[in-house]
Amino acid sequence: MKEKLKIAVQKSGRLNEKSLNLLKECGINLPGGNGKLKTEAKNFPVEILFLRDDDIPQYVEQGVADVGIVGENEVWEKKKNVIAVHKLGFAGCRMSLAIPKDEKYTGLAFFNNKKIATSYPTILNDFFDKHKINVTIEEISGSVEIAPGIGLADAIFDIVSTGSTLLMNGLKEVERVVESEAVLISNEKLSEAKKEILEKFLFRIKAVKKASENKYITLNAPESSVPEIVELLPGMKSPTIVPLAETGWVGIHSVVKEDEFWDIIDKMKDLGAEGILVIPIEKMVI
Ligand code: ATP
Ligand code: MG
Repeated sequence: MKEKLKIAVQKSGRLNEKSLNLLKECGINLPGGNGKLKTEAKNFPVEILFLRDDDIPQYVEQGVADVGIVGENEVWEKKKNVIAVHKLGFAGCRMSLAIPKDEKYTGLAFFNNKKIATSYPTILNDFFDKHKINVTIEEISGSVEIAPGIGLADAIFDIVSTGSTLLMNGLKEVERVVESEAVLISNEKLSEAKKEILEKFLFRIKAVKKASENKYITLNAPESSVPEIVELLPGMKSPTIVPLAETGWVGIHSVVKEDEFWDIIDKMKDLGAEGILVIPIEKMVI
């Protein structure tokens, strides 16, 4: 039987949908149907295992899965021997320390001899070790934010995205310890055949990511503005310029980075550009 790369994906939760979406954008078609623990792609040599995110680093270390999609926070917490292959740009969050909102915060020394509730004892312990501050860590598995209110701890360390959960529980964020996003991790000793599949998968992931960061634009412009417009539009090599039926005008096609886009459009309008169309790119291979 030909080898397949076993990819661990979160079974349900915040990473699940985006992970499956990434596979789909990479052209990996999975049969529908929920609740399965394992599934195979028809058109790419991979098998998907659906697991709890906490277990993914361990299973990848053991080789139960060859690679996995998981939050960096779980990778740091579990300290398993796995390779972080590529950051995936989704499920971004920060891990912060929060205290009751009426307490006066005096800097990190505030935490000296305090009790802190968290589901991430390893990351927290490493942090306070580094800062040489002595704390007691109370490990709890969920609903960390209620701990100070019920007298279980003086502070908490947890994942924050908007901060509204903290607010609702009468807490304030006082230290941002680290930022995390989803990452593709790999077992340290993949067979050559599996390495090859991983390379192909990674190539597709990069093409999808590149595409999402860029836009295809077309516009019409007076011929006299072409040199200045070309200057603004590097394109992949250089922009495509085609004559229009109307003399003195050309059509210009190019690729621009999403974050430079508005700036470039404004400048092009000043140079006489018209009929600017902006089109999303599905895949981008350069
Ligand atoms: P599982 O049942 O698989 O153990 P879980 O309840 O531990 O799931 P989720 O809440 O689904 O985990 O979060 C999964 C990951 O999503 C987190 O480990 C983190 O990397 C990321 N994440 C991004 N934003 C948030 C957020 N606001 N709250 C929690 N996790 C977030
Ligand atoms: Mg979990």
